[in-house]
Amino acid sequence: MIITDTHTHLYSEAFDDDRDKMMQRAFKSNILRFFIPAIDSTYTKAMFKLEEDYPDNVFLMMGLHPTSVKENYKEELEHVEKLLSKRPFIAIGEIGIDLYWDKTTLNIQQEAFRHQIKLAKKYHLPIVIHCRDSFDEIFEILEQEKGEELFGIFHCFTGTLQQAQRAISYNMKLGIGGVVTFKNGKIDQFLNQIDLKYIVLETDSPYLAPTPYRGKRNESSYIINVLEKLSNIYGVTKEEIAEITTANSKAIFKV
Ligand SMILES: [Zn+2]
Repeated sequence: MIITDTHTHLYSEAFDDDRDKMMQRAFKSNILRFFIPAIDSTYTKAMFKLEEDYPDNVFLMMGLHPTSVKENYKEELEHVEKLLSKRPFIAIGEIGIDLYWDKTTLNIQQEAFRHQIKLAKKYHLPIVIHCRDSFDEIFEILEQEKGEELFGIFHCFTGTLQQAQRAISYNMKLGIGGVVTFKNGKIDQFLNQIDLKYIVLETDSPYLAPTPYRGKRNESSYIINVLEKLSNIYGVTKEEIAEITTANSKAIFKV
C-alpha cells in the first residue's frame, strides 16, 4: 500500500527543527509520495533543498500563491517562468484566488491566475488550485480557459456537491484533507455521491490538521486520519482508498 500526499508544504519553517523525524513517521505509515506546492520566490531555495534530501519521494510544483500576489507580482511571475524554462516541475501550483485574506488584490489575483493557467498549457502541466471564498471568481476563469489541455486538482476542496460537480466538469480532481474530519466540515455529508476516481488525498501540512489534531501543526503522517474518514464515508477498505487515490494522483502528475 502506498499513500500519496498530493499537497504538503514540507519545506515550511514549521518543520525546521524536526523535518527528518517527521518524514520518517510518514514513511513508516507508507506515505511515500509527496507533492510540493510553491508559494513564492522566498521559498524556492528551501524547496530545492527538500528535493535534494528526499529525491525519491518529493515532487516539486512551481507557481505563485494567490496570497503572495502583491505589488511585485510581475517579478514573481517572471521568477516562475524562468524556473519553468530551466528545469522540470510536476505542476503549476498553487495558484488561484483568495478573497479571505485580501479582497483588494482581486484584479491582479485574477490576472496572475489566468497567466499561470496559460503557462500550464504551454508546458502541458496540471494546475493545483487554491480557492478561498472565491468559487464564483475561480469558476469564471475556468469557464473561459476550459478544454482538454486544462486539468488538475481543486486543492482543499470545501464547497458544496454542486460546486464539486462543477469542478469535476473542468477536469479537476478534488483534494480532500483534514476538513473532511471536522464536525462542521460539511463535505463528509455528500462526498459518497462523488466517485472515488475524482478524489486525491492531501494534508496541506503544516496547516489544517485533521481531527484529533485540529489546531495543531499538521504533518503528512496525519493523512491516515483522512484515509480512515474516507474509508467510513465510502464503505471501502483503507487499502482500496490508498490504491485508488494514489492511482488518481499518478494520472494527474504522470509520475
Ligand atoms: Zn497549500
